[in-house]
Amino acid sequence: ERLLPAPADLPDVALNPNAAVVLAKRYYRKGASGEQLEDARDMFWRVASAIAAEETKYEASTWKHEDLAREFYDLMTGWRFLPNSPTLMNAGTDLGQLSACFVLPVGDSIEEIFDAVKHAAMIHKSGGGTGFSFSRLRPKESRVGSTGGVASGPISFLRIFNTATEQIKQGGTRRGANMGILRIDHPDIMDFIRAKERDGEFNNFNLSVALTEAFMQAVENDEDYPLIAPHSGLEKGRLKAREVFELLVRKAWESGDPGIVFIDRINRDNPTPDQGEIESTNPCGEQPLLPYEACNLGSVNLSAFFIPGHENDPNPADKGVDWKALKRVIHLGVRFLDNVIDASRFPLERITERVHQNRKIGLGVMGWADLLFQLRIAYDSPEALHLGERMMAFVRDEGRAASKQLAKERGPFPAYPASTFAERDLGPYRNATVTTIAPTGTLSILAGCSSGIEPLFALSFARHVMDGERLVEVNPHFEAAARAEGCHSPRLMETVASKGSIHGMDHLPEAMRRVFVTAMDIEPVWHLKMQAAFQQYTDNAVSKTVNLPNNATIEDIRNIYWMAYEEGCKGVTVYRDGCKSVQVLCTGDGE
Ligand code: ADP
Repeated sequence: ERLLPAPADLPDVALNPNAAVVLAKRYYRKGASGEQLEDARDMFWRVASAIAAEETKYEASTWKHEDLAREFYDLMTGWRFLPNSPTLMNAGTDLGQLSACFVLPVGDSIEEIFDAVKHAAMIHKSGGGTGFSFSRLRPKESRVGSTGGVASGPISFLRIFNTATEQIKQGGTRRGANMGILRIDHPDIMDFIRAKERDGEFNNFNLSVALTEAFMQAVENDEDYPLIAPHSGLEKGRLKAREVFELLVRKAWESGDPGIVFIDRINRDNPTPDQGEIESTNPCGEQPLLPYEACNLGSVNLSAFFIPGHENDPNPADKGVDWKALKRVIHLGVRFLDNVIDASRFPLERITERVHQNRKIGLGVMGWADLLFQLRIAYDSPEALHLGERMMAFVRDEGRAASKQLAKERGPFPAYPASTFAERDLGPYRNATVTTIAPTGTLSILAGCSSGIEPLFALSFARHVMDGERLVEVNPHFEAAARAEGCHSPRLMETVASKGSIHGMDHLPEAMRRVFVTAMDIEPVWHLKMQAAFQQYTDNAVSKTVNLPNNATIEDIRNIYWMAYEEGCKGVTVYRDGCKSVQVLCTGDGE
């Protein structure tokens, strides 16, 4: 009775060609011999009715199952809101694991380490990604009491996790993604910073160094700082903070790895500190979680709320954005994500308990660069930053209002009384966190919009999806603008496809060149400023890559790192064009 039969008048789904390919390859349910058991209409109805079914157990709910299922179906198939991939794949199926983000503890014993390997395997099989902190492991060459031998240290265990991941293909199609974190004061930190020096090493991991406030101050004051063995608490040596920071910067310049996270800042915003410290994030960095915690995400496509005709207003977003419709979608999205928690079946009892205690959700946005194109606002402008702040403040405030409403209907999250909300006399809320900005690697393909808050990578490009299939696409807003300006021609589109950008094409109208900028046209600081603008109003973190041109200097990266610290970001990922490593991109490619 949880899955309603699809009503006869349920509309069909209009799929863009990329979405059709991705859904068929990875999302539709398949039978024993690989035959496709559903189409887009079946899939979205399966998800909508399974998630709406959770509503029926709450007496205070005023929704009828089918009415809410129809609302959810419209939200998704109108490409206004999409839940994270595992929800689309598994809702209403026997597997039923609906979250994208997990963090598992790695304890300092062989049993605990291999428990974590096993649990990660179970999570990868269900479509989730895992983050781990290796900071509790004793450094290499420490004594092991039980055997009298010596420990192999975090880096060598990291290799085991990486190999295990390699062998488990998720649902037959996608390989797992991991985050590995080590604290800056761990004695093996120098090896960790260099771990990805060899190409292809730890290719199933994103690595990040957890920087403490004390370390950042030591960098500022040009002091040294202590390395502490986690198992004994003893000081194992001292390093010059600036030298370590310089190495971090240099490695990021060479390969993009490791990234950095500001761990004390993440813990300052931990809503439930009584449950322990946050040590890690999920694979792409946007979701800090407690050990054994999971979180499900969902993203609103901002580009779907554009109202044409106000592009030339002094403040085009006032009337050019359907704020009322956006508000409604945020409220429904929060209800959807809270229902997902109840609908989800987790591979471990401890995860179920933690998730039900805190009920974290992560509502975010995608299609931001597209909306800016539609409004004719340049991404790298104060106007865009200002609108970004206004937009995310709106999402956060309406998201919190929706979570408050749910607390009235269903009660606050059980850990609320001991949370910082109760302390600060905010709430009660239904969810310990409400907002997160995910990369939306696949979701943005389905919705046909730009990903997360990233600028367009190119105005036109060929995309390789699974099995080497190639899809060429021109950004629809650029194409429409070129037509409106009377400069559209097959030749122009061809040139743009090969160059990606219209930078330097002086024959095109100046206003067009100013608005239609790509990731590589934008000065790196604007990437960072945009991340900071959205972070200010996001409970969790923001997935963002600061793209740098190939000729960016080490000093450019040092400046970006320092700015991220000063602007209140929770972490930063840089990528210098053409540098050697391939990142663990959480995109539709999945391979
Ligand atoms: P999607 O668009 O598929 O919903 P995102 O690109 O927004 O996913 O990524 C969100 C989170 O989903 C990631 O941070 C990670 O936790 C998880 N994730 C993404 N891709 C993978 C993958 N290939 N394997 C495991 N987890 C993944």
